[in-house]
Amino acid sequence: MRLLLVEDDHLLADGLASQLAKAGFSVDIAHTAREAAILGKQEEYRAVVLDLGLPDGNGLDVLKEWRLTHIDFPVLILTARSDWQDKVNGLKAGADDYLAKPFQTEELIARLNAIVRRSEGRVRSLIKAGRFELDENRQSLKIGDSTEHSLTGTEFRLLRCLMSQPGHVFSKEHLIEQLYNLNENPSDNVIEAYIRRLRKLVGTETISTRRGQGYLFNDTV
Ligand code: CA
Repeated sequence: MRLLLVEDDHLLADGLASQLAKAGFSVDIAHTAREAAILGKQEEYRAVVLDLGLPDGNGLDVLKEWRLTHIDFPVLILTARSDWQDKVNGLKAGADDYLAKPFQTEELIARLNAIVRRSEGRVRSLIKAGRFELDENRQSLKIGDSTEHSLTGTEFRLLRCLMSQPGHVFSKEHLIEQLYNLNENPSDNVIEAYIRRLRKLVGTETISTRRGQGYLFNDTV
């Protein structure tokens, strides 16, 4: 799941990005308001973490610009602890949640997963499709009443994408965009390779190939 992290503190941004990657996000970092505004319009993010104090402007203005142009990904803003006004203005400008600095990364991840869940109309951290149950916190898959299989990071991200919309055909390009950030250059056949691995786990007929179009998760088998 693609995530944009807007934070001008390079050290903080790099540390957060690696923690977020472990939690199943593929992260792009923007250090300025300008970069953030452009990336937000150009890429398909599932969520955004937005610091408000940026060297070339206020994160709130970036958020307002996105919302004006109907870019509606969930946004969590980072505010200074004492600044309640920022929190109120942020929520009014279209933020979905906020976190005051300094914060624990675990809380950031929990809140991010929560705003993504809400945007998908879910309450719990489980994604259910047919007899399959994907646990976001444990990055594991349960099939029927059988035992739990733990997944690698990429397996989890790919399955999460497919299972979030059963029956929807995802193109290879879209899947690559959701799985990898802008700095990664995955090879052309990486998706095929992971689909093969997942099929061994969920059964070949569960993930169908639509020739020339992409893949879909079949929750009816
Ligand atoms: Ca800052």
